[in-house]
Amino acid sequence: MDAEKLKHFQNLLLTQLRQYTEQIRSDQQAALDLYDDGVKDSVDLSVQDLNKEIALRLGERSSQVVADIDQALLRMKEGSYGICARCSQPIDERRLEALPTARYDAVCQAAIESADGEEDPPTL
Ligand SMILES: [Zn+2]
Repeated sequence: MDAEKLKHFQNLLLTQLRQYTEQIRSDQQAALDLYDDGVKDSVDLSVQDLNKEIALRLGERSSQVVADIDQALLRMKEGSYGICARCSQPIDERRLEALPTARYDAVCQAAIESADGEEDPPTL
């Protein structure tokens, strides 16, 4: 992949990273605000626990996305970005456009998903 395209995907990733970082902050804040209201207005522990749980879960899911972006940026530094981690073929740029954090081309992604169901493929 040439430097110009790499730069393009890097910008996509950095934009996503900023958006998700913002989102984690506002999602967690919103959920924690609910949690605080619950404490003030009632002693309903189950509602408080639920809100806390939501805050944590939102954070976890977004953190995974942020980790994926971090790894993609790392692969860029290493020069392996846009190369399928399984078959070493270049990943279709249209796929990267839609999913800049893609580690595998469509064929390998499908093979991995059908091979081990809900388990994530090994990192890198
Ligand atoms: Zn592949």
